[in-house]
Amino acid sequence: TSASTYDYIVVGGGTSGLVVANRLSELENINVLVIEAGGSVYDNVNVTNTGGYGNAFDTDIDWAYKTEDQEYGGGAPQTLRAGKALGGTSVINGMVYTRAQKSQIDAWETVGNKGWNWETLFPYYKKGEGFQVPSNYSWLEGSGVAYEPADHGYKGPLKVGWSSDQLNDGLAQKLNTTYQNMDAPIPYNKDANGGQMVGYTLYPKTVDSKLNIREDAARAYYYPYKSRNNLHVWLNANVNKLTWKSGDDVTADGVEVTLANGTTSTVKASREVILAAGSLKSPLLLELSGVGNPDVLSKYGIETKVNLPTVGENLQDQMNNGLAFDSKTKYTKAPDYVAYPSVGQVFSNATAVGKQLLANLPKYAAQVASANGNVTKSKDIERFFKIQWDLIFKAHIPVAEILLEPSGYTYDTEYWATVPFARGNVHISSADPTAAASIDPKYFMLDFDLQAQTQAARFIRELFQTEPFASMAGSETSPGLSSVAADADDEGWSSFIKNNYRSNFHPISTAAMMPKEVGGVVDTSLKVYGVSNVRVVDASVMPFQVCGHLQSTIYAVAERAADIIKAEN
Ligand code: FAD
Repeated sequence: TSASTYDYIVVGGGTSGLVVANRLSELENINVLVIEAGGSVYDNVNVTNTGGYGNAFDTDIDWAYKTEDQEYGGGAPQTLRAGKALGGTSVINGMVYTRAQKSQIDAWETVGNKGWNWETLFPYYKKGEGFQVPSNYSWLEGSGVAYEPADHGYKGPLKVGWSSDQLNDGLAQKLNTTYQNMDAPIPYNKDANGGQMVGYTLYPKTVDSKLNIREDAARAYYYPYKSRNNLHVWLNANVNKLTWKSGDDVTADGVEVTLANGTTSTVKASREVILAAGSLKSPLLLELSGVGNPDVLSKYGIETKVNLPTVGENLQDQMNNGLAFDSKTKYTKAPDYVAYPSVGQVFSNATAVGKQLLANLPKYAAQVASANGNVTKSKDIERFFKIQWDLIFKAHIPVAEILLEPSGYTYDTEYWATVPFARGNVHISSADPTAAASIDPKYFMLDFDLQAQTQAARFIRELFQTEPFASMAGSETSPGLSSVAADADDEGWSSFIKNNYRSNFHPISTAAMMPKEVGGVVDTSLKVYGVSNVRVVDASVMPFQVCGHLQSTIYAVAERAADIIKAEN
């Protein structure tokens, strides 16, 4: 194909990329090209079916990235799923729509990102949201569905609401009573999307409530707008790397792309290239283009264009485990109950736990720094860890997410500690853009991460020993008391947890928005340090993990990014 020119090239037509492309193409004099490795999944039932979570896994729309063997986390590699389609990971995710605790977003500013805080991001959560008021909502009427009108946006493209699977028969109230009866009661939270997440709630999803199909980034931000003649999308096309203008300052003039038919060519961007390929791809595209750690690049014969050694570092994910119990009644629908306990509700000895963790932070920071060859500095990591400590022990953010999913004669639970301290990385392992990368989240590298994951399991056991749930449930089927005794210590839980966890699929921070001196890759306008016209807009830029699921925050950041870019033009 012959070279053509666009104002902006967006690499990756996923969750973030389509938001940015949509908003930029609101400007009629601007031409936007989105280049997406996958195809359209508009009619793919593995995508649209609201009850089909997992059906798309390991099909051709799942990248199914493999990690390195997890040295601290059971030894085996883990699978990190990500959507390969127009819409990106939003087409295969669990559709949960929960945001963050206010103080967590404020911490983005504390770490040095002036102007990035809850107050400035909250309007963007709402801007993207097209909240669908539930037709049969009343806490008292049995479904448990409730919401706070002021916490939602009603005019945005992304449909958020409840599917018909939600509507149920009073289980929500019984679970609420059970949470209230626990040793440290978990309060009812009518709406977790207003910045205060602690408590028990029923979350909304990215779902088209009327049609009862999945809502995703493509349905929200692309298909209704595809007739715009300045919005272009190439499908089944892989970007290999950025191409550079000759000259002194580092300026991208486009990308090299391989099309479905195997031909490789370059496409020009006259203004900017926006990397939105996801947290496990965008940093690799920087490395393949010569932006990164010279030690990594030189191994594969790539000339360093910008020495930015923290590209691909700071990777943060969570670990997901589950416990299962028999149910005495049969359930045919799968409502979405979640509890977000804070540290004092999970640890009866929270003060002592906090003290011990605080004492360990310097050691943890040194461990992380040494594991990445001191590319991120121990003193900086220690500061980030102290910010994270303050969030847990002073701001009392949720330390765990507890999901309860009744199905048939079973109560399944899934849970994760929300803010692990481990920091891993993702790097190229070849100059070939199609080669698998080296991905190492370093799950369970630091003791506290296992301690928190263990304590959350004990919390779930306590829940099922509390009335009225205690009488509604039968015995624990996984792990079961014969496998992990009722009074098991941390060691007793360790092998169950490490042999049965999976990635929680929330990898972030691999091109973190932070000041350059402390290891940031992008500045507060999401521009890559040392490059004049390349931004990263996707999960890579989030400096800290959030307690909600990622997508709402990713959509909000992308909405804000689009405004930042527009304001510069
Ligand atoms: P993506 O949406 O992944 O977009 C990246 C895009 O870039 C993809 O379309 C990809 O194909 C494309 N791409 C990659 N490389 C190239 C290349 N070289 N050239 C061209 N295109 C390229 N979050 C929630 O909020 N709620 C949930 O219930 C939830 N459940 C999840 C369940 C699973 C199984 C997974 C994997 C994630 C889940 N998440 C959930 C997380 C959330 O969906 C993701 O964090 C989010 O969608 C990521 O958005 P992104 O824009 O960073 O990347």
